[in-house]
Amino acid sequence: MSDCCSKSAPSEAAKNGCPACEARCKSVESATILHHLKKPWATPLTEQHYYFCDSPTCEVVYFGQNGTLLKRSDLRTVVGIKEGRGDAPLCYCFNVSKFDAVANPAIFSFVMEQTKKGLCSCTTSNPSGRCCLKDFPSQRDSIA
Ligand SMILES: [Zn+2]
Repeated sequence: MSDCCSKSAPSEAAKNGCPACEARCKSVESATILHHLKKPWATPLTEQHYYFCDSPTCEVVYFGQNGTLLKRSDLRTVVGIKEGRGDAPLCYCFNVSKFDAVANPAIFSFVMEQTKKGLCSCTTSNPSGRCCLKDFPSQRDSIA
């Protein structure tokens, strides 16, 4: 296939379903992916859309429009939402586990404050490339 053909790829909306679990996924920057791969040099990323699969039971973490699949085993980072354990990371910028967040609700306020001041680094630290605040358990949640 020549370059001119690849430019007429299907629209982003049509291609954001995870090839493994079919969940609709949010796009993620290549820079984010490179910061979480075990061997970034072995996985050259190309000019295309990449997505982050946040299904807790799916082994796929990132996938590209061209069918590239990057799984949990390809990452140096533990993806908290894909781990059932309470000590799995929740906030990567400030080293908060789900257990910490449930035990001490003040941590949420701390993280929110730092985020407002622009002192977080979600884009590179969090494998999802997004802010962790939405992943914090509500105060009624408990660790199973
Ligand atoms: Zn998936």
